[in-house]
Amino acid sequence: MDFSIPAEITALREAFADFIDREVRPREEEYARIFWGANTDASNAQPVVDEVRKRSAEAGFYAAYLPEAVGGQDLSVLGTTLLVEDAAASGLRLAMAAIAPPNPAGPSTLLLKLPTHLWPEYLLPVAAAHKTMCFALSEPEAGSDAQAISTRAVLDNDEWVINGAKHYITNGADADFAIVFAVTDAEKRAAGGITAFVVPRDQYRVGQTQYNLSDSHPAELFFDNARIPADHVVGEVGMGFLEAMSFLNAGRAYIGAQALGLAEFCLNSATEHTRSRTAFGKPLAKFQGVSFPLARSKVDIEAMRWLVYHLAWRVDEEGDALAIMGDASITKYATTEWAYEVADRALQAYGGMGLMREGPIERVLRHLRMLRVVEGASEVQLLVIARTLGL
Ligand SMILES: Cc1cc2nc3c(=O)[nH]c(=O)nc-3n(C[C@H](O)[C@H](O)[C@H](O)COP(=O)(O)OP(=O)(O)OC[C@H]3O[C@@H](n4cnc5c(N)ncnc54)[C@H](O)[C@@H]3O)c2cc1C
Repeated sequence: MDFSIPAEITALREAFADFIDREVRPREEEYARIFWGANTDASNAQPVVDEVRKRSAEAGFYAAYLPEAVGGQDLSVLGTTLLVEDAAASGLRLAMAAIAPPNPAGPSTLLLKLPTHLWPEYLLPVAAAHKTMCFALSEPEAGSDAQAISTRAVLDNDEWVINGAKHYITNGADADFAIVFAVTDAEKRAAGGITAFVVPRDQYRVGQTQYNLSDSHPAELFFDNARIPADHVVGEVGMGFLEAMSFLNAGRAYIGAQALGLAEFCLNSATEHTRSRTAFGKPLAKFQGVSFPLARSKVDIEAMRWLVYHLAWRVDEEGDALAIMGDASITKYATTEWAYEVADRALQAYGGMGLMREGPIERVLRHLRMLRVVEGASEVQLLVIARTLGL
């Protein structure tokens, strides 16, 4: 076993830290002000997000995990994982816009499965942050049980005709196109009957923005006889469900890295705060009732770290995202659950300030609460883990 981080990844992390200080930190205050100002419509903050994305793409970080041929740096999953962790650990809301995964608006590796003649229209502009996309799988009647979707696609001569509705789609209102999952063979469903398509924005209608506990507000999408050319298929016809599961599995290292980074941010903030804040004549940190929960958080964070790095290493070594499903579920489950507890302990150490919107912890706690539900809720991860036990 070699636990060292390759030197070139360490150099890239340092360059990314410089980028965050130079390009993200100065914009963070403006972003937070728009977000929490009198008008809390998140779309007002979109120009700031777009600017960070573009600058990060120009600097080579945004789509680093894609192949060089399409504007990336061929960065390994481990390298990407470490950049995601660093972005989250910076505590800057905008930093997560600077790196594509785990943000579904950014260039998905699924786009590499489009026919190459479609790359200039879809893949390259998203990699360069000139366009954004969304990943549309969930439906009102099919969330955890994603193979139960009812959106249908039928081939009509040289066009696919798509009908159905999606909901809770991140970046749904702003995306230039959607990767849409639809049933193409109702008998086969998950086993060869669901296909992934690229659907341009002018072929679907955006419904309500779905405001929720987190700061990420998804949207409804409606497909009423949406028509797309026959070649707008991601991968093979009928293999969309496997593509989705493989993509989500590979992405578990990134969601884990996000949870890990946010947990580190919470612990660092709370540690600093309890050293300086006094009560009963001494710093809060001098009370074991305050310091022990933070010590427990340190234990959780180190356990999370090695789950995340190990998963990233396995994806790099083995490539096959489905083969590592058990580890991927363990990592998603453990990191999101534990990071939430770390944030909750940090909030408690802050007292009233922990609950305040202008404090550092409140928004992180809400975000982590969301991560326990999206991309396969914790119970769905336990379901997969139980299956690996033969249960
Ligand atoms: C902010 C946000 C952003 C999102 N972004 C996207 C996106 O970009 N694209 C997309 O396609 N989807 C997206 N989603 C949808 C998300 O992936 C689903 O909400 C999630 O998969 C859960 O599905 P559900 O909400 O239908 O809950 P349900 O499937 O109804 O589940 C409800 C509860 O039952 C539990 N449960 C279900 N089955 C079992 C079981 N067999 N055993 C034990 N417990 C079970 C679940 O764990 C959950 O706790 C987003 C959701 C939110 C809230």
